[in-house]
Amino acid sequence: MFKLAIVGRPNVGKSTLFNRLVGKRLALVDDQPGVTRDLREAEARLGDLHFMVIDTAGLEEADAESLPGRMRALTERAVDMADASLFLVDARAGLLPQDATFAEILRRKGARVLLGVNKAEGRQGADAAMEAWSLGFGQPIPLSAEHGEGMGDLYTALQEAMQEHEAQAAAASQPVADDDLEAPAGDAEGDGIEPGAPQKPIQIAVVGRPNAGKSTLINKILGEDRLLTGPEAGITRDAISVEIDWAGTRMRIFDTAGMRKKARVSEKLEKLSVSDGLRALKFAEVLVVLVDADKPFETQDLRIADLAEREGRAVVIGVNKWDLVEDRNGALKLLTEEFHRLMPQLKGAPVVPVSALSGEGLERLRAAILKARSRWEMRISTAKLNQWLGEMTSAHPPPAPGGRRIKLRYMTQAKTRPPTFVAFCSRPDELPDSYKRFLVNGLRRDFGMEGTPIRLNWRKGE
Ligand code: GDP
Ligand code: GDP
Repeated sequence: MFKLAIVGRPNVGKSTLFNRLVGKRLALVDDQPGVTRDLREAEARLGDLHFMVIDTAGLEEADAESLPGRMRALTERAVDMADASLFLVDARAGLLPQDATFAEILRRKGARVLLGVNKAEGRQGADAAMEAWSLGFGQPIPLSAEHGEGMGDLYTALQEAMQEHEAQAAAASQPVADDDLEAPAGDAEGDGIEPGAPQKPIQIAVVGRPNAGKSTLINKILGEDRLLTGPEAGITRDAISVEIDWAGTRMRIFDTAGMRKKARVSEKLEKLSVSDGLRALKFAEVLVVLVDADKPFETQDLRIADLAEREGRAVVIGVNKWDLVEDRNGALKLLTEEFHRLMPQLKGAPVVPVSALSGEGLERLRAAILKARSRWEMRISTAKLNQWLGEMTSAHPPPAPGGRRIKLRYMTQAKTRPPTFVAFCSRPDELPDSYKRFLVNGLRRDFGMEGTPIRLNWRKGE
């Protein structure tokens, strides 16, 4: 049976949620004070989903200041046992440094993570849920374990995780080709973009919430009213694509019906809107996430940017309706910082102010798209990579757990679109996540790959 571990620092509501999912029967038995508690495991139900849930709660709140080693060990063990982990944070307390410790454990373990923001009853959870994007686990699910709120969203996320797990298990039982190495492209080095005559059009999609100005933007780029607007638009605008010559660059633009506003009445509508975004993602090389300068980076914007990152697409953020903004310098700085804080996995993605209505900023947008694509296709020679790796490791040597220093042997780029690297290391399992991130951030900075997802896979090599 599918196993879900509930993890998080003390007092976020793990037991409360465990009890809710398991029902009263079992929980009461174990809940007597003084009983030594380790991992509790019980059968749970949510709607028609049946699964096992593992509780890591039960450590005294007195220890909440320093994360006790036992709590950490317990969490690691639970994560190892589970097929997915529900990471709980507390909407009332906000994010605390301790939460980051748990995030690190989960990341290091490569766990499948659902992120729950508990104690989010009423409306007070919205800010905390927004903040929780910065943990880098995708869309936070606001919950109230105590009042049973948010169980519908938890259901959806859990169902997805269970399906994913099943699909992976099925795939794992099939024999597969060796690994993720692809044949190097013929033109080896170089960024592959020659202004004026690229071989294939750059595939882009413009996505964003309704009214962000997607149609207006595309029409402006086209220079004519070729995209339909008006009442019949909903029918015809589904996945239209047009090929254009945009100031000498061939592009194919996919328009999607857009991410619809979250409709309280119908979860189906929400699902549909996400699948629109997903469809665009399949086609696009560069995703232009268009947001409204007046209310940027709402959940759906972050969600689509997050999906883009996971699908390995390059991302450009267009901040539209710039003509309405008064303090432009201040606003741009704030918006850029805000985006990079909430989407650490897309650090450095270009944030470009535009006015679809007046056409202001379109040239900058075009340049940003070109640049994003070339970064996404970037190929770095093995020689350069290893020289770089040598410099990085001598400036900041990897740690030496147990007195033996972890050795990083060698690094090579396995793929482009997005840039994917393989590093060989004496003990990859013991290399801390913070060190891995240090290298990914270094690659991004030193080779100019801002705004593109970067994959760094670790292999054992003596
Ligand atoms: P654990 O240490 O993570 O297992 O946390 P507990 O489940 O013991 O909960 C800690 C405290 O938070 C208890 O006082 C709970 O009643 C309270 N709590 C749990 N869930 C919620 C919730 O959804 N809303 C509010 N307001 N309090 C909650
Ligand atoms: P879509 O739903 O994302 O395709 O958005 P539309 O292109 O239909 O635009 C929604 C509304 O925003 C329309 O009333 C547009 O005229 C307006 N709009 C779009 N772009 C701009 C802009 O740059 N500035 C201003 N002021 N309004 C805009």
